[in-house]
Parts: sequence; structure tokens; C-alpha cells
Amino acid sequence: MNGPREPIGVIGTGYVGLVTAAGFAELGNEVYCVDIDEAKIEVLRSGEVPIYELGLRETIERNRERMHFSTSLADAVANARLLFVCVGTPPTYAGDADLSAVNAVVEAMPADGEHALVMKSTVPCGTGRSIQRVFAEQGKGRLAYVSCPEFLKEGSALQDFLEPDRVVVGADEEGWAPDAVCELYSPLQAPLVRTDVASAEMIKLAANAFLATKISFINEIANVCEETGANVLEVARGVGLDQRIGPKFLSAGIGYGGSCFTKDVSALKLLAANSGYHFQLLGSVIEVNELQKRRVVAKLARHLGELAGKRIGLLGLAFKPNTDDMRGASSLVLAARLAAEGATVRAYDPIASEEALKVMPELDCVPRVQDVLRDADAVVLVTEWPELVALDWAVAAELMAGKVVIDGRNALDSAAVRSAGLLYEGIGVA
Ligand code: NAD
Repeated sequence: MNGPREPIGVIGTGYVGLVTAAGFAELGNEVYCVDIDEAKIEVLRSGEVPIYELGLRETIERNRERMHFSTSLADAVANARLLFVCVGTPPTYAGDADLSAVNAVVEAMPADGEHALVMKSTVPCGTGRSIQRVFAEQGKGRLAYVSCPEFLKEGSALQDFLEPDRVVVGADEEGWAPDAVCELYSPLQAPLVRTDVASAEMIKLAANAFLATKISFINEIANVCEETGANVLEVARGVGLDQRIGPKFLSAGIGYGGSCFTKDVSALKLLAANSGYHFQLLGSVIEVNELQKRRVVAKLARHLGELAGKRIGLLGLAFKPNTDDMRGASSLVLAARLAAEGATVRAYDPIASEEALKVMPELDCVPRVQDVLRDADAVVLVTEWPELVALDWAVAAELMAGKVVIDGRNALDSAAVRSAGLLYEGIGVA
């Protein structure tokens, strides 16, 4: 590495902010982290990490001296030129992106030419232009603006930070700020897409919408496979070998979840609608996904009949393995639907139970997987955590009252389940 690395500010220490901060600290940058959540900052100062993400705790621990935590934006402003904004942009009731946290940061930005706001949060296309207009109106026109959307995946976020498929840097004017952001990322040797702000914003939204489309597409193929006797695993294998398509995001299951796909697809659809364009395809992508989450209920009813009074075990709650994030998790819809049918739902997740109970306090979360299996009429694999995929089905069969195993992720060894005397059903597989 040549010369000292540039200190940076990171505003918002959630999944993206903390991973970005830890990643840059690992590269040798001093990182000044800011969050309005005092409790979170207290936890971070005490050496704890408030979220679960593979390797994050160790990376923060290793770089503790380079990472500074504060509730005051002034600390970041005093020590860094580049201020990475990583605050949340959750959906509003209408489904658009809620930019109130972003706007609060914009309001608090200093009025000088020495700083740059680097937007990592996912924002609707056009947000950067509006913010730059606000800066001009507020006499902060010399403040630089760079869009640098984040593509990390929860569960492998640190690795994604360190080995990104690409880094996107959008700026409407050449200048020190986009150059400095490119320089920051240069040790990663990732393909660089240097572009304008609006295109950078749209790259992020389009990428998520395309991935969600791929998932809804294979889920519909899986549903047709169930009607026609084809096996979606074989179909995905054959289709994915086409280099124009590729094998990733062709896993049929009980629908995509997480904080990003759900809200970003909806935000893009509404962004288009707000500008007068009806994005038909995305409407279907969303609808297919919502129906897919509910198909398991019909599968259970087919095997068990009336669901009222039946005991259903959910194996996994997080929206995917290796994260405790419950935002948009399919398990929430499934648990609510089953409860509405009168079933008794019990759930186990190795990491996400605490987060799940924050969203759904009435959920019966048990600390051991055996407690979900015991006396269950049916179990559903919701999250393909390695320990759940590796369950001993002979032991499970002894604990269960019934025989039904629904594999919502097509991740189980169906032969092992069947040879334990259980009834296996996946998604789109014979
Ligand atoms: P998060 O909710 O985990 O974290 C946001 C943090 O910002 C919270 O700690 C909150 O207290 C803090 N915050 C809110 N207002 C603030 C303010 N005014 N000043 C300082 N801190 C403030 O959110 P996240 O999952 O990290 O997502 C952040 C952004 O990154 C979103 O726009 C999201 O769409 C995008 N993104 C997320 C992911 C992901 O996988 N989570 C991936 C790529 C992009």
C-alpha cells in the first residue's frame, strides 16, 4: 500500500455501515462511525457487535484502534473528508423509499468545499440530483456529492466488501471526491464503473430488481414443474449452464425476503409509476413472490387436511442463512398464515430468534431444534442453515407425531428424509 490511507466517516452503523467501516479499517483506514442510536454506539464502544455477520466481530476486534464510534456527526466531520451515508431507507406505507434518515443527514452536512457526501444507502434514482439542489439552495454548493451504491449480501457481507463484483462510483462533476472514492477502493482491484449519479442509483435498483425477477421466474417454473412432473432442480441445472443465463439465483423456494429485494423492487416500481411509467413486469415479480410464500400452507393442508389444531414446526426463521436479519423474511408470512388457519406454530432458528421476537412477539421460538420436532404433525424447512440441512431424520422421525416434511428451500437430502419413513415434499421437485 502506498502512503497513509485516507480517514473516512461512516454515518449509520447498521449492516452496511458496520461492514463498510470494518472493511475499510481492515484496508488500513481510520474510520469514524456515527449513529443516532446511542445504545448501539454504547454496545460498539464496549467491544460488542450488535448484529451477526460472518467474520465481522473478529474484523472489528482486529481493527479496534482504527475504528471510532460516536453519536456526533461532528466527530466524523472533524476527522474525515469523505462521509459515507449508510442510513436506512425503509419502505413507506405507500411502498416508496422513506428518505427521512437520509434527509436528516443531508440537513446536518457542513457547508464547505472540504467534504463529500458519499451515498451508500439505496435511494431512488433522482435522489442525488435533489440533494445537490438542496445543497445549492442552502449555500452548501461546494460540498461534493458521490453515489457509491452498496451490493453486499448479508451472510457474506464482509467477503463481498473485500471481493466485490464491481465498484460503482457516480458523480455529476469531475473532482477530488469521486477520485478519492475510487482511490479508497483501489486495493480491492475490482472492476470500476465510473458514471453519473442517476445511472449509479439506477444500477443498484436494476440489479436488485433483476435478481428478484430471476427468483420469481424460477419459482413459477417450479410451480409448473409440480403440475407437469418435471423437476425444477434438473431444469435449473440445464438452464443455468447457458452462459447467457448463469446458474445463480435459480433456486426455487418459498420466495425471496430480506430488507433489500422487497423494498427495492417496490421502490423501483413506484419510482417508475411516479414518473408515469407502468412497470408491469415488476408487479408480477412482487405478486409471484407473495403467493410463493403462501404456497406452503396449501401443501401442508393437502397432506394434513384441516390445519386448525395441527402442530407445525418451522426450521429456520432468518430470511437466509448466516444472518439474524428478519426484515422481509418469508417465515413471518408463513407463521402468520398458519396461525390464521388455527395451527400451532413453533419455530427454531440458531441465530435469529431474538430478532424474530422483536417483529412477531407472539411467535413460539424454542431454543433447541428438538423442541420444534417433538410432537410436530409437520415441519417446514424455511432457512437452509447448515445445522438444519444436516439434521438426523431418523431421530427427527422418532420425535415427530406426524410424517410431513416440507423442504421450502430444496436443500434437504430427500432420500434421507424418506428412508426415515417421513413424507418429503420440496418446491417443484418430484
Ligand atoms: P440498518 O437499518 O441496519 O442501519 C441503518 C443505521 O442508520 C441504523 O443503525 C440507524 O440507527 C442509523 N441512522 C438512522 N438515521 C441516522 C442519522 N440521521 N444519523 C446517523 N445514523 C442514523 O440498515 P442497512 O441494512 O445497513 O441498510 C442501509 C442502507 O443500505 C439502506 O439504504 C439499504 O437499502 C442499503 N443496502 C442494504 C444492504 C443489506 O443487505 N442490508 C445491502 C445493500 C444496500
